[in-house]
Amino acid sequence: MIDKKGMKQMKFKIGVIRGDGIGPEIVAEALKVMNKVAEKYAEEFEYEEILLGGASIDVHGKPLTEEALAAAKSCDAVLMGSIGGDTNTSPWYKLPADLRPEAGLLAIRKGLGLFANMRPAYLYEELKDACPLRDDIIGDGFDLVVMRELTGGLYFGARKTEEKDGVLEATDTLCYNENEIRRIAIRAFDIAMKRRKKVTSVDKANVLDSSRLWRKVVNEVAADYPEVTLEHMLVDNCAMQLVRDPKQFDVILTENMFGDILSDEASMVTGSIGMLSSASLKEGTFGLYEPSHGSAPDIAGKNLANPIATILSAAMLLRYSLNMDAAADDVERAVKEVLQVGYRTGDIMSEGMKEVGTSQMGDRIAERI
Ligand code: NAD
Repeated sequence: MIDKKGMKQMKFKIGVIRGDGIGPEIVAEALKVMNKVAEKYAEEFEYEEILLGGASIDVHGKPLTEEALAAAKSCDAVLMGSIGGDTNTSPWYKLPADLRPEAGLLAIRKGLGLFANMRPAYLYEELKDACPLRDDIIGDGFDLVVMRELTGGLYFGARKTEEKDGVLEATDTLCYNENEIRRIAIRAFDIAMKRRKKVTSVDKANVLDSSRLWRKVVNEVAADYPEVTLEHMLVDNCAMQLVRDPKQFDVILTENMFGDILSDEASMVTGSIGMLSSASLKEGTFGLYEPSHGSAPDIAGKNLANPIATILSAAMLLRYSLNMDAAADDVERAVKEVLQVGYRTGDIMSEGMKEVGTSQMGDRIAERI
């Protein structure tokens, strides 16, 4: 790695959170792929193991320690599997809410100041049958990302429930300041520059003041990115357009609650949860990368989990945190090739394909890097 002054830099330090359930299995496969990337591009990755969730509860009695958070902060990026157990049977769920696995996940996101969540929705030609949309709508596929604001808006505003004249009334507050909008808009435009250079900013500016401010600030940020095409879309229209013509989107930029709903809708139209990666970002290049799915305790330890979402999360880490675009392209191409030649884990299996386990899928992808 050469820095801006032309000096050879130190190796990249990558935090590794294996987590619970299928987490350790899928992370092992992503690291196989990362190691092949390191070899091919003559880079050095130093891995720092970090405990989170149930794995941390078992050792330290809590889902995230100060030391673990400090370790994550010291890394260039963090790759995570998934955390949590069977919520009906695992002893972790007999603990108070703030000591359960998921509390660790919220705490690490907050502690790292991750304010932007990026979820790609990409439809693989080979998995078209899993897509609930009609063939004429899918065409030759779609490739979009939802950039969702993660630490502001309705989910973080003041709330109360009170009784007025014998009638219960509940209030939630939707508040954004211009700095919160600007920093995620910048992130979204930066990402668009690495993609097809189009941003669709989604709001409800015909009704909400917070949306009118959102639109104003996004327009200001857009002025610094003349190569990127910006359009504004109302959220109700966007929900409709995602199933009418998903091909029109590249980067969808939106606030917390709209993004919560739209990112689930976007991922559903791709059909398979085992394929979907995600990133949580802040200013600069640091990010936490993880699959969109959970720890799947029902199939843990059986070599049945699909590692592709985690491998594609590693590709995002290469692209957005380490600026290794060619390596990220390589990983994404390897995944495509493996699907093309017919390898499938159980969750994406269809007639005539070759069923493989978690580790075999990782091997097939790694050997194509
Ligand atoms: P889940 O995503 O773990 O599983 C839902 C279904 O999808 C299950 O049938 C599972 O077997 C299947 N599945 C998920 N990932 C798969 C993969 N890679 N390959 C093949 N099949 C896969 O959701 P859940 O069952 O609601 O939650 C299980 C646990 O995961 C809970 O403790 C929950 O809190 C936790 N969780 C963690 C995260 C995270 O770490 N970010 C996210 C969601 C849920």
